[in-house]
Amino acid sequence: MKEISKQDIETLLRLQEAETQIVQLEDTLEKDEQKQGQILARQEQFQKELDKQKEALAVCTASCEEIEQDIRLIDQRITKSNETLRMVRSNKEYQALLREVEENRRRKEGIETSLLELMEEKDQLSGAIEESEKDLAQLQSQVKAEQEELQTELARNRTLLEDYRAEQKQIGEQLEPGLMSLFKRISKMNKGLAVAKVQDSVCMGCFMNVPPQMYIEVQRGKNLISCPQCSRILYYDAVSQEM
Ligand SMILES: [Zn+2]
Repeated sequence: MKEISKQDIETLLRLQEAETQIVQLEDTLEKDEQKQGQILARQEQFQKELDKQKEALAVCTASCEEIEQDIRLIDQRITKSNETLRMVRSNKEYQALLREVEENRRRKEGIETSLLELMEEKDQLSGAIEESEKDLAQLQSQVKAEQEELQTELARNRTLLEDYRAEQKQIGEQLEPGLMSLFKRISKMNKGLAVAKVQDSVCMGCFMNVPPQMYIEVQRGKNLISCPQCSRILYYDAVSQEM
């Protein structure tokens, strides 16, 4: 069994205080970094939807122009047929031209209906795009504010983390290197909690009972004792036991 001093236990406790802060800060930093990514992804998604709407509008506008062009062509044909009508001599030719004019008029009516439908769609799309652009502008300013706030928090926490790491390193120098690396190893295994108090024979790290002989050993505080369940370094706090 490895001997440790009261001083060592105190150092380990101070090390643990810094470790708890470090682990919490690392966790907060990770979450904030994820949040930053999520906020940007939300904005990108919105931008993509808007781009899709704009694409649909472009397609719709092109179709309208095509139909308008077709209508102009049909009008030209009708005008031409009407001009020819005045010059024909035979009744057969005359009837044929009349039929042609009639046919063109019907075709024109048909595509005019599709044009109206497309124009309605175009109006709806334009309206939706206008709305989306307003929403996007609002989202962008919201994202900007959120990002700035997050950046400030990230910078503050990064500095704090560096401070705690430096402090922990300084504290750790008072321990022999073997004990320091043991502390780090146990902390890693136990989500940042390497040192646990024993209270009424219970390890406050994992809430399991420690054997009676071990409890006595921990109370003596002369040797390094690890919890048989969670491996945490155990210590006894006489003051808090009396409370
Ligand atoms: Zn335990």
